[in-house]
Amino acid sequence: MIAFVDLAAQQERIRADLNRRIADVLSHGRYILGPEVAELEERLAAYVGVRNCLTCANGTDALQIALMAIGVGPGDEVITPSFSYFATAETVAVLGAKPVFADVDPETCLVNVKDIEARITERTRAIIPVSLYGQCADMSAINSIAERHRLTVIEDAAQSFGATQNGQKSCSLSRIACTSFFPSKPLGCYGDGGAVFTNDDSLAPILRQIARHGQERRYHHVRIGINSRLDTIQAAILLAKLDVFDDEVVRRDKAARLYDEHLSGLDLQLPAVHPGNTSVWAQYTVQCDNRNSLAEQLKRAGIPTTVHYPLPLHRQPAFAVDAVYLDSERLANQVLSLPMHADLEPSDIAMIADAVRTSLQQQHV
Ligand SMILES: *Cc1c(COP(=O)(O)O)cnc(C)c1O
Repeated sequence: MIAFVDLAAQQERIRADLNRRIADVLSHGRYILGPEVAELEERLAAYVGVRNCLTCANGTDALQIALMAIGVGPGDEVITPSFSYFATAETVAVLGAKPVFADVDPETCLVNVKDIEARITERTRAIIPVSLYGQCADMSAINSIAERHRLTVIEDAAQSFGATQNGQKSCSLSRIACTSFFPSKPLGCYGDGGAVFTNDDSLAPILRQIARHGQERRYHHVRIGINSRLDTIQAAILLAKLDVFDDEVVRRDKAARLYDEHLSGLDLQLPAVHPGNTSVWAQYTVQCDNRNSLAEQLKRAGIPTTVHYPLPLHRQPAFAVDAVYLDSERLANQVLSLPMHADLEPSDIAMIADAVRTSLQQQHV
């Protein structure tokens, strides 16, 4: 049986270190903001190459904290792709601001940079490009648009921790970046978790205050914040996982390349990695006309798949924007994510590819 994401196989490889690190937390007993949290923040900042990292309760909070830190609120607009996970735009709306959607590129599924520029108004405050499926959007082009219009760029790097663009790590490519440690993300813990990164030293203490009830020092609150912390046990788990993370990224990339080889020549669009990018393959997502019947036949062959995402954000009932985003809508009907994790065997990939080939051939007779 092939898993969509195999956390058990990964756990087997790091069990001794995991057990030791969790046992340390149980013995010192500092479950909230224990020493592992600060250790992890230092390691994460060094890993991506930025000066400041704040861990928090989940990736959604990370985005909300970032938006609160730059003062986004009612009357403001934030530009974000119409093809992403709901949380990206939800955090904008939660703060009373308006998410303004930009369409995406039909090949990479990443935000269409020209469409971002077309949607800027005098109310625009920020741009949230999403590093979807594991690779970064064109951050230098987006940063230069933002500079021209005095906007802040917040990378939604929930799916791209560990990816690079022109040799620099995701989470280091814009003023603020946010990631998620949800269990199935490339770097995941065993519960919820997230982090915010910035090289802006004046913003860093504000981010931290916001995540701690606006507290400047104990019981002294200088602003309205939220309560968003990463549990010490989750930090301990992430420290154990971080030690093997680079190896996992290599394994995921090998799996993706093997998929590419096996699936080339079929009536499918394979994932396109933009020049200058490396992907951490949060998803290996193909596009095909008969997506639903392919998914159904793979399911019958015991192969799990997922659709990321079946409904674009502008079509979600909660937003219901009366506009057409052609590329996002086509992608929502055509994308299908195949199993992807560091423990996929070459024989698994060959078997999945065979099932895909058989299904596509049947559709053509
Ligand atoms: C997972 C994800 C989030 C939210 O992260 P959580 O930790 O689940 O809150 C935000 N944006 C994108 C693109 C995601 O994939």
